[in-house]
Amino acid sequence: MSSRTDEVVPVDEGERRAWDAGELPPPSDLGDGLWCIPVAIPEGTLPGTLAYAVLDDDGVHLIDPGWDGTANLTRIAEALAAAGRTLDEVATVVVTHHHPDHLGLAARLRAHSGARIVMSADERRALAAVVDPAATDPEAYRATVEQWGVPHDRRAELLASFTRPSLTGDVQPDVLVADGDVLELGARRLEVVATPGHTGGHVCLADRAARLLFTGDHVLPRIYSGVGIGVQPGDEPLGDLLSSLERLAPFDEYTVLPGHEFRFTGLRARRERIAAHHLRRTAEVAALVEELGDATVWEYARRLTWTAGWHGLDGFWLHSALRQTEMHRELVRSGRAQQWLTRDA
Ligand SMILES: [Zn+2]
Repeated sequence: MSSRTDEVVPVDEGERRAWDAGELPPPSDLGDGLWCIPVAIPEGTLPGTLAYAVLDDDGVHLIDPGWDGTANLTRIAEALAAAGRTLDEVATVVVTHHHPDHLGLAARLRAHSGARIVMSADERRALAAVVDPAATDPEAYRATVEQWGVPHDRRAELLASFTRPSLTGDVQPDVLVADGDVLELGARRLEVVATPGHTGGHVCLADRAARLLFTGDHVLPRIYSGVGIGVQPGDEPLGDLLSSLERLAPFDEYTVLPGHEFRFTGLRARRERIAAHHLRRTAEVAALVEELGDATVWEYARRLTWTAGWHGLDGFWLHSALRQTEMHRELVRSGRAQQWLTRDA
């Protein structure tokens, strides 16, 4: 039997329907001691996170337990109870990245059961940078806005949108992992695959024996997750993301277990869609380089096509547009864009 890999196909239509209705599907037993436990996101637009639990003789191991709070702790406890297990048995919490809808509950679980928290060393650095007070220093952002060439009368709205506090709390992991490491969770062996881009140290986890790939927010079946969220200026998150999409080629035939929406097959098609989505804008920027040269980010951004129209962008959306423009321009400038643009031509 061969799976269709030319398109994204939900593993469980019920999961997809629940997501589309803005609801959480019930926990599901995926077999061989693996469970999918949907947990809620109380803020923002996404209904929830798909947490996963590996149940074995040596304990319960959770992947991306989700947003912090007693409601989600109860959800996980109830799902474990259905499998004859308890929260006291949680021995490991592995996170794909540091965002609050993935890492959030980890510290509470550790306090409850003494579980070890596992994170990539690169992601620990990314988290440390995000919780550093310097990351929310308005003076540093003021300098960035100036460097982007934003006209004086548009600066105030950008600075106002910047004042939102970080939702991410600092968490000191117990175990740091790196690309190629293998986590032994009971009888299951999960290989760490470094996939920076969405965050600086995002990882996917590959179960080669069961042909399963846990993708966090790196690859979602329909949503284009943000690039370089929490990454410091100077890094090149977009180039990293495109490389990280290619890194998953060995797993194209695997079943994908993402952090949101629904489990699916068709990884290759999805990887290519995501790359093409970003490269459309890169190509747009590349086409302007001859004319605009070293012009500011602002000058580039106003020449690009935006869904809301350039004049429809304000506040946080204007910030996001400028940041995206900066990332695409950096990718073109570094010469790294060429390899993907020519391949796609
Ligand atoms: Zn997420």
